[in-house]
Amino acid sequence: ENKDQKFVYDFTEGNKDLKDLLGGKGANLAEMTNLGLPVPPGFTITTEACKVYLESGSEPAALRDEVSAHLDALEQQMGKKLGQADNPLLVSVRSGAKFSMPGMMDTVLNIGLSDESVTGLATQAGDERFAWDSYRRLIQMFGKTVLGVDGELFEDALEEAKQAKGVTVDTDLEAGDLKKIVKHFKKIVSREAGRDFPQDPREQMDLAIKAVFDSWNTDRAKLYRRQERIPGDLGTAVNVCSMVFGNLGPDSGTGVAFTRDPASGHQGVYGDYLQNAQGEDVVAGIRNTVPLADLESIDKKSYDQLMTIMETLETHYKDLCDIEFTIERGQLWMLQTRVGKRTAGAAFRIATQLVDQGLIDEPEALQRVNGAQLAQLMFPRFDESAKTELLGRGIAASPGAAVGKAVFDSYTAVKWSRSGEKVILIRRETNPDDLDGMIAAEGILTSRGGKTSHAAVVARGMGKTCVCGAEELEVDTKRRRMTVNGTVIEEGDVVSIDGSTGKVYLGEVPVVPSPVVEYFEGRMHAGADDADELVQAVHRIMAYADRVRRLRVRANADNAEDALRARRFGAQGIGLCRTEHMFLGERREMVERLILADTDEERSAALEQLLPLQKKDFVELFEAMDGLPVTVRLLDPPLHEFLPDITELSVRVALAESRKDHNENDLRLLQAVHRLHEQNPMLGLRGVRLGLVIPGLFTMQVRAIAEAAAERKNAKGDPRPEIMIPLVGTVQELEIVREEADAVIAEVEAATGVDLKLTIGTMIELPRAALTAGQIAEAAQFFSFGTNDLTQTVWGFSRDDVEASFFTAYLEKGIFGVSPFETIDKDGVGSLVRSAVEAGRATRPDLKLGVCGEHGGDPESVHFFHEVGLDYVSCSPFRIPVARLEAGRAAA
Ligand code: ADP
Ligand code: MG
Ligand code: MG
Repeated sequence: ENKDQKFVYDFTEGNKDLKDLLGGKGANLAEMTNLGLPVPPGFTITTEACKVYLESGSEPAALRDEVSAHLDALEQQMGKKLGQADNPLLVSVRSGAKFSMPGMMDTVLNIGLSDESVTGLATQAGDERFAWDSYRRLIQMFGKTVLGVDGELFEDALEEAKQAKGVTVDTDLEAGDLKKIVKHFKKIVSREAGRDFPQDPREQMDLAIKAVFDSWNTDRAKLYRRQERIPGDLGTAVNVCSMVFGNLGPDSGTGVAFTRDPASGHQGVYGDYLQNAQGEDVVAGIRNTVPLADLESIDKKSYDQLMTIMETLETHYKDLCDIEFTIERGQLWMLQTRVGKRTAGAAFRIATQLVDQGLIDEPEALQRVNGAQLAQLMFPRFDESAKTELLGRGIAASPGAAVGKAVFDSYTAVKWSRSGEKVILIRRETNPDDLDGMIAAEGILTSRGGKTSHAAVVARGMGKTCVCGAEELEVDTKRRRMTVNGTVIEEGDVVSIDGSTGKVYLGEVPVVPSPVVEYFEGRMHAGADDADELVQAVHRIMAYADRVRRLRVRANADNAEDALRARRFGAQGIGLCRTEHMFLGERREMVERLILADTDEERSAALEQLLPLQKKDFVELFEAMDGLPVTVRLLDPPLHEFLPDITELSVRVALAESRKDHNENDLRLLQAVHRLHEQNPMLGLRGVRLGLVIPGLFTMQVRAIAEAAAERKNAKGDPRPEIMIPLVGTVQELEIVREEADAVIAEVEAATGVDLKLTIGTMIELPRAALTAGQIAEAAQFFSFGTNDLTQTVWGFSRDDVEASFFTAYLEKGIFGVSPFETIDKDGVGSLVRSAVEAGRATRPDLKLGVCGEHGGDPESVHFFHEVGLDYVSCSPFRIPVARLEAGRAAA
């Protein structure tokens, strides 16, 4: 604590860039004050003061005097003293951190009222009802948020009073009723809080300020910060703002407004207004609000002023703002503004609208949108024009629109889906036993649990639609049904769930493709209706991104069809072509022969059979990606993956045995399966290790690639294959494989007379490879970081297991805010990537560097890869637009 440190800022002293110090609310109140807008005077206690309080357990020594000085000044300006008996100054005490945070303390209004000053207020306002209404609000809010009294006790008491009088809305309560309620409320406080409601106005204010500080460390606030990765030591600011009153009769009121439509981005009048009301009444839904446009006929002067102010704010913030305002007897007051939340579609439209209005430039427009929003726009969705029956609402846990028959257990989900039925798995909550059912289902619906629940985490990992925590649903697993507000849904009834909105519908809601995907696919162009307006905006933003980005974006694609789609989506090559699928299906038999081969002859014969098939695959792929690089990864997975399941095979052999019907091949297969069985296959015989122990396997693949490239060249094509060796841990492995590969390539070049210009590189997916990247670069012409495996091996996590087992606990405890398989772990895995980049480039300055794996399409990870200087990211075709956009945002 520094002696000269200033802990309190008058609203006239701050500005919008001081969010760290003054919190979002305080910084913007100051900004509006300095713009000359009508903001009730007040001051902000800094986050620094909060930090001192949290660290030392007491407020900074200087704070009390500083608050007193600012309060004095405020009293001077207002011409009345806090809580003064005959004419009280009243204030609100409002929390406001840098980021708005659920779990932080609610605002307390009307501080300064007491048994004495309530009469003063009544006289001054000439309205007794108003004064007592304000007082009962103070006791209620103060009791609940500062003294920790259960808020329902007050609500119940208020409800009782209304019932006793036979009225339904609080405005029908008269001064006399409110006096009685105040008495009752004070009793509740004394009983529940073990102390009387404080009558000293300054004590009220000080206690409220302290309560705001303390609310930084409630469990809810802490959990939220851990999950959102908000540092725990930022602290919150406290705003003390002189009260203005919207509850002074019909010429008063309070409202919220947006400077443009947060759903479409269109300019117009959007908001709600409530006459004769204070603060939270608008959002609390106690009485019905009217559309903001109606204010024009209620109070034309205030309405016009509000419109002018909104324009000022938009031009000033150069963005959509939301605002809170109050009208006190015809006088308009601004109580809050901030850059407002908006839907994904509106974000794109607003960004381009603002460019057209000349308010922002293109790089800034890129910062106004993000990849998560674009991804959201790319999911198919329910037809908004369809007639629907809404059953309930939960948390939008994993996006998408899923329709299917309700099933209430995993077993049925699997059974029904095997027979071709689409199912929605409905559970109270899921656990690892539900995994098969989750895989089989179109979507998952639970009645309990939040965004980090098992269902939500696993569904996101699988890319499956999920709505969780739909609390209105009563799921009865035993009777295979659920009840929602009286409606019974039996097993087999069709339901539709929207993982982007959390809505649950009865029956089948038609699904429509995303217009944005239609656009990327080339099936939709510019036009005039609403969807096309969005498409236009996306089109323009993508063009900005492509113009500035440095990272190239490639696709993970294994066949010509995916490659063509990836190209339409803007892929600049293939970063990962897995060759394992080329060994499946009807080719499995050949692979079995290869694995069972006892002699070199048998082995070569099997490889010989595979060669032309592989070659054909590559010819098609190179043609689809003509002129662009195609990185082909040689065979990676362990061999047992190509053999029959051990249990099935054992049963088959045993049955045959009992029938005395020997199948020599099955017996040999079973032996092979046993021989190849590994406890930890992911750490076993796979990748380059396979290439080194199965003679001819990798060279066959290299030959197929080389011959395919030669064939394409002879057909006047422009094939650009890059051969990638997986799971290398040491340069020696790579050297041996390279030597053999170079020999094969030379042979093909000699035989065809074509100069192939093939490059050979490696994946960096083991910690040892990253640590010895300098040596490996001697033998590799490129690196591709396989961050999936690298994450597994650096953390020692099995990706296939941990998401369903303990990740939920880890996320809930805030050990990480997001799965490291979703967003790259910068400190651990990322630092290995960074050092490998440096070491690799030190050895070979023109080393080409990329990343393949899920992280290549993850927004935050893309920024990291940009920053460490990779040349490209590679991701699934569907994620390409997201990667392009984020690469642009990283560079802008
Ligand atoms: P939140 O962050 O929950 O919006 P606020 O501090 O903005 O909390 O306040 C809650 C409500 O009280 C808002 O409607 C706000 O406009 C109103 N309010 C806050 N301070 C005052 C004041 N000084 N005079 C009148 N209304 C106020
Ligand atoms: Mg507010
Ligand atoms: Mg791998």
